[in-house]
Order: sequence, then C-alpha cells, then structure tokens
Amino acid sequence: MKCVFVCVVVLAMLGVRVQAFSFNDLTDYVDKHQEEYVEALRDWVSIESDSSDITKRAELQRMMGVVEEKLRGMKGNVSMMDIGTETLEDGRVVALPSVVTAVFGDDENKHTVCVYGHVDVQPARREDGWTTDPYNLTEINGNLYGRGASDNKAPVLAWIHAVEAYTALNMELPVNVKFLIEGMEETGSNGLDVLVESQRDAFFFDVDYIVISDCGWQSTRPALTYGTRGNCYFYAQVEGPKQDLHSGVDGGAVIEPMSDLIGILNSLISASGQILIPGVADAVADFTEEEKKIYEKVDFDMETYRSSIGVERLMYDNKVDLLAHMWRFPTISIHGIEGAFCGFGTKTVIPAKVTAKFSIRQVPNMNPAVVEKQVTDHLHGVFQQRKSPNKLKVKMIIGVKPWLTDTKNALYEAGKRAVKKVFSVEPELIREGGTIPIARTFQDMTGKDIIMLPIGGFDDGLHSQNEKISRYNYMEGTKLFISFLHEVSHIKNN
Ligand SMILES: [Zn+2]
Repeated sequence: MKCVFVCVVVLAMLGVRVQAFSFNDLTDYVDKHQEEYVEALRDWVSIESDSSDITKRAELQRMMGVVEEKLRGMKGNVSMMDIGTETLEDGRVVALPSVVTAVFGDDENKHTVCVYGHVDVQPARREDGWTTDPYNLTEINGNLYGRGASDNKAPVLAWIHAVEAYTALNMELPVNVKFLIEGMEETGSNGLDVLVESQRDAFFFDVDYIVISDCGWQSTRPALTYGTRGNCYFYAQVEGPKQDLHSGVDGGAVIEPMSDLIGILNSLISASGQILIPGVADAVADFTEEEKKIYEKVDFDMETYRSSIGVERLMYDNKVDLLAHMWRFPTISIHGIEGAFCGFGTKTVIPAKVTAKFSIRQVPNMNPAVVEKQVTDHLHGVFQQRKSPNKLKVKMIIGVKPWLTDTKNALYEAGKRAVKKVFSVEPELIREGGTIPIARTFQDMTGKDIIMLPIGGFDDGLHSQNEKISRYNYMEGTKLFISFLHEVSHIKNN
C-alpha cells in the first residue's frame, strides 16, 4: 500500500493522474483503437516467420525483434533470451530464435501472471489453396485472413494491447504481467524446455499463474480449455533392395518394402477406429458419468460439423461419444510415406526404402515411454510373421504427454467471470484434441497453475489454408484479456 501511495504522489507531482479501474473506459479504448490493432496484425502477418523453413530463419529473427521493440516501447523490462542452436539434417548448426521476455510491474502485493505465446507460423503458399496472399492480411466480411492471424499472432497482440490499454489510460495494472514469447512452437518448441527449466528460480520465481491463448473455441460460444492430448510420433522404415527397381523387370523377384509397410500399417487400427496395438488402450482413464455430463453441455452441432468437414458419416452418431473420441481417447493417424512414388502419372517404380509416418494422440494416463515399447514390439511382431527378408526400423520421434487440469480451481473461476463480463455468457469447458506440448512442460517444470484462455474462432482454420481471425474475436478477445487480468487480481491467496 505504501508503494501505491508513493507512486500516486510521484505521479501527481509529475502531473499524471492515476485513474481508478474502469472496465468501460478500457473497452472504449479498445474500440477506439481497433484500426490500429488491425494494422499491427497486418505488419506481423506480413513477416514470413515460418519456423519449419530454414530459409525463412532471418524473417523469424526479424519477427522476434519486432516483438522485442514493441514491448520495449511499452516500457517493459525486456530481455532476449538465448536458447542455443539446432543442428539441421545436413549437419549445419544454426541459432534458434531468441525467446522474448518482458516484465510489467513487480509489486509483491500483486499476483503475477505469465502470458505465453508464439509468433512463428506454419508454412503457407498461395498454391496450397489460399484464396488470398497468406502474408498479406486481407479482410473479407469481418474476417482477417492471413497465415498466423489466429495462430498465434492476434492473440499475442491482444495480450500486448490489453496491457497497453491499462498503461495508456494511466490505470494501475491489477496484476504484474510477464510475457514469454517464443518462435519455435510450430516445430516443437525446440530449446524452450531447457529455458523454462533454467528459469524456474529466476523468471518463473514470482509467477503465480500461466496463461496460454494458443487454441480456439469449439463453437461460437467463448470457451476455457482444460485439457489437451499429447502425441507420440513414429517413423516405421522398411528397407529392401539396394536401389529402386523397375516393376516390369524386377517385379516378382523381390518382396517389396512398400507391401511390407502397408501390411504392418494395416495392423495398427481397425476400420471402425479401434486401436489394435496390444496394451495401448489399457492405460486410458475411465470415462466417468461426471465427465459425460460436461460433454453434454458443450454446444456442438454434429450436423454442422459433419458438413463443414465434408464427410457423409462421422465415426460416432452422438455428441458425447464423438467429443470423447476427439478429446479423451487416443487415436492413430497415418500421415504419409516418404520414399514412395507420389507424383503425377503411372511410373512403375518399386521403391527400395520407404518410411511411414504416423502418430498416436496421448490421453491420461498413457505414458509415451510405454507406448513406444508397445508400438515397437507390435510392429516387429507383425513384421516377423511376414517372414520378409527386408529390414524394419521403428523409431519414436516425438513423445509428448497429455495435459489436463481442474476447472474448479480459482484461476478457472477467474476465467469464467472474465468471459461472463465481456460476452454475457458462461464459457464452454472444452478440451483440445490436438497437442500443445508447452502446457505440460510448464506444469511439470514450474508447478504453477495454468489456464488456456482461447480467443480464436472454431472455424479459424489453424494450420490450414485460409487461416483467419474475425475482427470480433480479436477485439472482444482483447477485452477478455483486460477483464481476465482484473479478475485474477481478486483471487485470494490460500
Ligand atoms: Zn499455435
């Protein structure tokens, strides 16, 4: 309190009036600055910060610099944290983009919220099916189209604008805010684990809560996300002849690697979606009646969803089962086969070495290390029965655990109040079928409470063509973050 008093006196002497919290003034401020916010997003989207493409690394570095400059301009205590290097497949060693951190306020009497976000993006090329230039923000019917618009540039900007609105109006920030913005999320947050661990007693020391806004709503209703699936990503490689053969000449002389590979892939999952790898389903947590009740309340129209993805029939015919299989049961997806002929035309090649790529989404209480062994043993067992002279190699490339939290804790209650204040509805409580590894990393390494507070729309098309965020979600999302900071300040210490 003494500090607040001194600050007020100092500011009064400087002729600056500290304004009491006024939600209306803050939202007015957001509305008045809407065009400015859209322009900021335009600038950010124009930077091709694709972390998967090494030729774009300079752009990605530039993006981190833009974030740094913005936060410095707001008088934050900003640092560029070095997270080391990565070794490329060709042996080259390149620097990873620095992580930007910024601190606003260090009042011991206030809670401290850490906002996590990323400003790298998935690849995007016009010829992939974009109807607009992916790196030139284009507005159509109130939607802002551009790569990274929803994932995750607008949410990061919305957080920045939320803090900026408080300071611009000389309103005291209700909590201390720390930003942690990275540039390698889309390729697995390379280097971030090490940084988080090394900063546990430094940057994270006084952090009470971590907020992640890197996902979307499930419907037109705002949502709080309380779980994400993990992922185990595998390569299965079958190697046969020394070189590719010609089917007209050599066909019939060899057992083809591709045939072996398709054979073993076919042993992973049944036509009705059942995982056939022994033991994998055993670890899955029981589907309780209480959980089913949460799913029943979710606004999810099966018919709209079915037609939006353009299929004739979904795997399950009721909402609860469908959501459960998207959120809380494991699934296997086969993503591709490297080395196989995939061009146009009717080439009759027999590939000598083919590598299948598939992944298994992880749910409580699966353990990636156990899954790795189950999958490897299973595939080798099936392969052995084929009595093939070819060689099989199975390798798990990524092993990320799922994340799940309790929606009855004080942080989620603050989130619920914030949503209600801005949107006048109760938020939906949803889980995310995809994987956001950072949630689990933060949980395991810092032990802090984490909330996922999305502002992206359900139809934003993250990672696909024509990604967008609506002006509505961007602006109301900014107000949501403003409100959330205020609501967090009301959390009582226990
Ligand atoms: Zn993202």
